[in-house]
Amino acid sequence: MFSVEEASAAILQRAETRAATRRGIVEACGLVLAEDVVSDVDSPPHDKAMVDGYALMAADLRGEIANLRVLEEVTAGSVPTQTVIAGTAIRIMTGAPIPSGANAVVMVEETRSTTNAGQDVVTIESTGIAAGANILPRATSLRKNDTVLTSGHLLRPMEIGLLAEVGRAEVDVVPAPRVAVLATGDELVPASESPADGQIRNSNGPLLQALVTRAGGIPRSLGIARDQPDALLEKIKLGLHEDILLLSGGVSAGVLDLVPAALAAAGVEQVFHKVELKPGKPLWFGCLIENHHPRLVFGLPGNPVSSLVCFELFVRPAIARMSGRRAGAPHHRTGLLTRGHSQRGNRPTYFPSILSEEEDRLTVSPIDWRGSADQRSLVRANGLALFPAGDHDYAAGDAVLTIPL
Ligand code: AMP
Ligand code: MG
Repeated sequence: MFSVEEASAAILQRAETRAATRRGIVEACGLVLAEDVVSDVDSPPHDKAMVDGYALMAADLRGEIANLRVLEEVTAGSVPTQTVIAGTAIRIMTGAPIPSGANAVVMVEETRSTTNAGQDVVTIESTGIAAGANILPRATSLRKNDTVLTSGHLLRPMEIGLLAEVGRAEVDVVPAPRVAVLATGDELVPASESPADGQIRNSNGPLLQALVTRAGGIPRSLGIARDQPDALLEKIKLGLHEDILLLSGGVSAGVLDLVPAALAAAGVEQVFHKVELKPGKPLWFGCLIENHHPRLVFGLPGNPVSSLVCFELFVRPAIARMSGRRAGAPHHRTGLLTRGHSQRGNRPTYFPSILSEEEDRLTVSPIDWRGSADQRSLVRANGLALFPAGDHDYAAGDAVLTIPL
């Protein structure tokens, strides 16, 4: 049986970054850039006013009071037509180009404007101003031909703004992997239906689709497949068109656990079945190479919490790797137990827990629950606590590793 580490390595080795594609920049948010981006402009494109006020010669403010003739008004988007000389100023708005001759801008709040025989005049009671005041010189932020972002960079809203500034409406990115989700089981009905005797609702389908979306993939629901080889095979073939196929249920040792055989019939090669892990031991993983393009197939255990744990440990990193993001093991952080916990058995256990930041430390409270199908209790958890294999009684204050959910 594979350990968690061996299983992770086997999966990541087969998860390859998807081929780049061109996207509009707004659509590209959340994806990884697949090219270097060079600016086609200086920013700012001209020496620009950083405040609304008057552009003038700093030397004119040496006296106690200055009365300067206002030559014109320049708003953002227009350009000055006049040159500032001694004794004159140009009214200027934030972002507008500094007129030639001017070497400082005085904020409008520090001025008084009057009209004298039809001539606009600005009066400034001055304590002096430094040359360059309130002016942002051309290309302070970036220069034309600068490389502003490199391939591999994750695009957040800030990067989208920068891309627009440097003239890129479209960029090459790694597209999000497409993930088919197929629930299996004769007992399942959709959430919209009332279960008859012996039936339950398909909760894993929606759970897994939501996890895929949160992990940066694009989910495609294939609904429910009955525990019947032909029905399973038909839906599996549909799922193999996508980058990843997630199945839930049918991978344990029950009489209707038909998924491994159906996957083999569809040509998917098994990489491993079963992992030293609790919950999640029945996990099945395989791969189908088609047109040199690997499709990853996960047979997740039917139990909702097992599905969740396997997704966090194995599927999320695979989606990250295919998206061009870093895809190590989930981030483990140490926390301190708030109460005792009894660990039994020879498999490491990922236990749903409440993680809480308290001053400078993280506390961990394993939830009270009725076994691993208890989704109602699970909603209180915001993390998993890792208890290594082996019988051990933990006491309050003991340190354990955790994964946030
Ligand atoms: P299986 O691995 O198919 O034997 O399923 C294990 C347990 O998980 C059984 O109790 C199933 O009823 C339950 N289960 C399987 N699939 C789902 C699902 N899609 N939603 C909720 N529970 C499920
Ligand atoms: Mg089943």
